[in-house]
Amino acid sequence: MFFDILTLFPEMFVGPFSESILARAREEELIEINTINIRDYTYDKHHITDDTPYGGGAGMVLKPEPIYRAWQNINDKRQRDVTTILMSPQGKQLDQKMVKDLSLEEGLIIICGRYEGVDDRVRDLVVDEEISIGDYVLTGGELPAMVLVDAVARMKKGVLGDENSSIKDSFFNGLLEHPHYTRPREFAGLKVPDVLLNGNHGLIDLWRKKKSLQRTWLRRPDLLAKKRLTAAEEKLLEEIKAEIKGGQDD
Ligand code: SAM
Repeated sequence: MFFDILTLFPEMFVGPFSESILARAREEELIEINTINIRDYTYDKHHITDDTPYGGGAGMVLKPEPIYRAWQNINDKRQRDVTTILMSPQGKQLDQKMVKDLSLEEGLIIICGRYEGVDDRVRDLVVDEEISIGDYVLTGGELPAMVLVDAVARMKKGVLGDENSSIKDSFFNGLLEHPHYTRPREFAGLKVPDVLLNGNHGLIDLWRKKKSLQRTWLRRPDLLAKKRLTAAEEKLLEEIKAEIKGGQDD
């Protein structure tokens, strides 16, 4: 899968995409990440990419022409219409379902705004989806684009490897994941739960399922309200509620 990212600050992407899992995925050509400098698509002497807003007001707005030319160039090069995303605090809020759906695409073009944002005609002309990473405003679309690429890339087969499979992660099946422990067995007076040490995988799976339900119920009841539970899960949840009422909690 390829990610073609339109930005005024390509250097920002170097570090985050040159380390660990994503660096290996790039080396193994499981994903391709390209940054395209919007400034390279300016034709004026001073390479201007922004201008003052019509109607007045503070800040600058990214001009439409350089972004449009850069976008056209990618589509010509790719010889197809590539799904185009504008990172925007006004977009649909990113969640795991969107991440999963986007990971089915062959590639994505991602536009990073700056300053007051992008001339709205860019949205009208080239954008398929506007995506936000949360209800707060950042200085630019670069960090949100990194979040999106990271989340989508780890859904691609081979990127995590089997041992790190994403299907057990929080949100994938609508629940938060169970807690994890590693060596030592005891640390600062706190012991790893016995059930994880006895090698009985039936009991371990049941404990993990219960913890997953418990955490979701306590921390994210909104997720639980949206999830269709199996009869076994319903039963576990009833047990959890009774235990918490009785004074045991997470
Ligand atoms: N004036 C805009 C508004 O109020 O909606 C905010 C512009 S913001 C300072 C500049 C750029 O950062 C945006 O065009 C967008 O690309 C990016 N950005 C900021 N916050 C974001 C968020 N929560 N999610 C996605 N992109 C964001």
